[in-house]
Amino acid sequence: MSDFNWCHGPECHEKHTVDRVRGVKGSKVLRTRKIKITNYNERYWFSYFCSQNCYDNFANKYIQQVIAIAPRTECLETPIEDPKKTTHSHDYSWGRHSYTTTEIKIDETRQT
Ligand SMILES: [Zn+2]
Repeated sequence: MSDFNWCHGPECHEKHTVDRVRGVKGSKVLRTRKIKITNYNERYWFSYFCSQNCYDNFANKYIQQVIAIAPRTECLETPIEDPKKTTHSHDYSWGRHSYTTTEIKIDETRQT
């Protein structure tokens, strides 16, 4: 197995950066970037894409095929307890400040 991947960005080899320039004088090319596989990136998308832009270009070009892997035809739901609202008040020299927080807790008794 090789220790690198070529960037999968469909337009990676068209970006005008000096690190992509390869070849001998008179027959220079812009080449797809190579990504070294490390312990840090091996299980993640950034071992296949040199940049967020290349990742986005790939996802936009192949979105229908990507979605076909695991289509979502129905919404998913996570059971929660009734949300609990709490009002917090603090007195400062310049006056009272209050704000409301809402606690959302997973309802473990309704987990599937
Ligand atoms: Zn790239």
